[in-house]
Amino acid sequence: GGEPVTVIGLGLMGRALATAFLEAGHPTTVWNRTPGKADALVSQGAVLAPSAAAALQASSLVVVCLSDTAAVRDALGPHRAELAGRTLVNLTSGTSDEAREMAAWTGDYLDGAIMAIPDVIGRPEAFLLFSGSPEAFEKHSHSLDRLGNATFFGADPGLASLYDVALLGVMWGTLNAFLHGAALLGTAKVDATAFAPFANQWVASVTGFISAYAGQIDRGSYEAEDATLETHLATMKYLVRESAAAGVDTDWPARIQTLTERAIDAGHDGTSYASMIEVFRGQA
Ligand code: NDP
Repeated sequence: GGEPVTVIGLGLMGRALATAFLEAGHPTTVWNRTPGKADALVSQGAVLAPSAAAALQASSLVVVCLSDTAAVRDALGPHRAELAGRTLVNLTSGTSDEAREMAAWTGDYLDGAIMAIPDVIGRPEAFLLFSGSPEAFEKHSHSLDRLGNATFFGADPGLASLYDVALLGVMWGTLNAFLHGAALLGTAKVDATAFAPFANQWVASVTGFISAYAGQIDRGSYEAEDATLETHLATMKYLVRESAAAGVDTDWPARIQTLTERAIDAGHDGTSYASMIEVFRGQA
């Protein structure tokens, strides 16, 4: 069992959220602009509210997951009176400023970011990030844990969104590097499927570099215990050269090379890769 919950927005993600609440035994009320998307949920036991206002009135915990912040304002803007006294958990992606504006706009507000695809919602590998009202998180964390592992970052409502984009950057950086490598090996008739296990094993090693460099970044000292920036730069040039020779796009490796050259030009020669933080901070 569990407390009653309302889910507003039944797109790919909203339907997965509502399903997880239903499976955990929460009385679940749903609403979507296009009501037909509720059909499967209703057959699983969800209650389809006749209006957004009725959906808000049904539960003191309201989870909203729409395309973007403008859609949330469209859908909930006319119903601020019904929101009073309820906790609004906004799992819609947006910027940290949008999260802070939403918090100022409603009373008891939690902003959240979903680090999972719909299929994984409710499973142990799903994790969700929250920030905003500490009272709201304390009161509802048990319910929110039904969706995946919930972490709370404190009272600044913008922090979950900031973590979200930073983590998506890690995803795109890693995926782009994999795709570039797969294109490069593809020119030698190596399948992406053959490359993938090596890429994954190497990513696991890279997680160790991340942990070590995090300490250096926080201390502000970048001892080259493993390799200097010049060693990195020399091998980066092979990646650029191999790409050009193979007719593979050179934009990605050339950009990495440019960033590394800027760090060296700014005087970080002889230091570890962690000194690149100065480039990303806009200081080199
Ligand atoms: P979908 O495109 O599948 O669903 C969008 C939802 O927003 C629909 O319910 C749609 O209603 C609703 N909507 C859009 N505009 C309005 C409006 N003006 N008024 C009322 N309702 C509106 O997207 P997802 O479910 O995939 O994504 C939802 C959010 O979750 C996004 O912010 C996304 O970034 C985030 N997210 C998604 C992940 C994913 O893997 N899918 C992963 C992590 C986060 P209607 O059905 O009527 O069109």
